[in-house]
Amino acid sequence: MSGILIYSELEEAALGLLTKGRELATKLGKPLSVALLGNEAADQADIYFAHGATQAYVGDDPNLTHFQARIYAAALAQMVTQAQADIVLIGSTRRGRELAPRLAQKFSAGCVTDAIGLSVQDQRLVIERRALGGNTVSAKVITSQHQVIAVMPKLYDAEPEAASAGEVIPVSLELEPPATKLIERRSKEAGVVNLEEAEVLVCVGRGLANKDDLSLIQTLADSLGGMVGCTRPISHEYHWLAEDQMVGLSGKEPSPHLYLAIGISGQIQHTVGIMDAKVIVAINNDTNAPIFKIADYGIVGDLYQVVPKLIERLQQELGR
Ligand SMILES: Cc1cc2nc3c(=O)[nH]c(=O)nc-3n(C[C@H](O)[C@H](O)[C@H](O)COP(=O)(O)OP(=O)(O)OC[C@H]3O[C@@H](n4cnc5c(N)ncnc54)[C@H](O)[C@@H]3O)c2cc1C
Repeated sequence: MSGILIYSELEEAALGLLTKGRELATKLGKPLSVALLGNEAADQADIYFAHGATQAYVGDDPNLTHFQARIYAAALAQMVTQAQADIVLIGSTRRGRELAPRLAQKFSAGCVTDAIGLSVQDQRLVIERRALGGNTVSAKVITSQHQVIAVMPKLYDAEPEAASAGEVIPVSLELEPPATKLIERRSKEAGVVNLEEAEVLVCVGRGLANKDDLSLIQTLADSLGGMVGCTRPISHEYHWLAEDQMVGLSGKEPSPHLYLAIGISGQIQHTVGIMDAKVIVAINNDTNAPIFKIADYGIVGDLYQVVPKLIERLQQELGR
């Protein structure tokens, strides 16, 4: 017996994985199930059944109240064993990336994180992942008995199917208490944004001359109802914006409808982060900047001249 088990703390990511999982399960001839952790998990099972899970393994324990990768990995491992799953698909969120290798270690399983594609070839699961700094895509096959794969969130859209019956299977978790104690929780400072939710993303790069000029970029983002992101130099070298705002290989990979690159050269380590953007607009004073190769619309010009004109026009048109 073997099967595919899906887990993500983000419902949308889990449903997207289930949608893709239906296709994989059919091709590999395996059952598809979902792992749900937490005190209200059983109540939410129906939506997972509607997206293709035939079993929902549900478990709760006081030790799961706050996320700790070690404890969540132990809980998931017990679900994997009970489900007799040999393929585990996890959303490659920040938590998912921490969980996947810890879970894999418990089964001596091969593990791939940040997967950008899943397919079945010759009855084997083929996993795609970016390689060589984002310049190429490598295809991998895990040869261990168990496979743990963390898949980029939003890679697959959630699509319910007609049949929606499923079985809720409670799992009696046996978990050790956490090794660390939570003393306090504080919300992030005001102004910190979750770029993965951005419909419009205005990204700024080293073309910006001064930190104070960020207000220009923020005004443009506000005019478009969008969020501000940046390249690595802006967050990690100049520290003008938070690390959470960096887009690219080592940062966020949002999928906005509209992405504006302002004073950004377009190095691959940045642009891999916005490959899923629907429309790309670039403003750069260098005609030969690589960003223009991937831009749908390019404006060659000084950002200090172009951006104020854009803001003025947007405010006229949209009144904000
Ligand atoms: C392992 C590794 C991982 C990395 N991960 C990331 C990552 O996740 N995200 C990331 O962003 N980078 C990452 N980098 C860095 C990346 O390689 C680039 O160095 C970086 O993206 C360049 O940032 P930039 O475009 O802001 O700066 P630059 O490359 O210096 O480009 C600035 C651009 O601004 C233009 N410009 C200048 N003045 C103006 C003006 N007045 N008006 C209009 N345009 C103007 C210039 O023509 C130029 O094209 C990584 C690098 C490595 C080695």
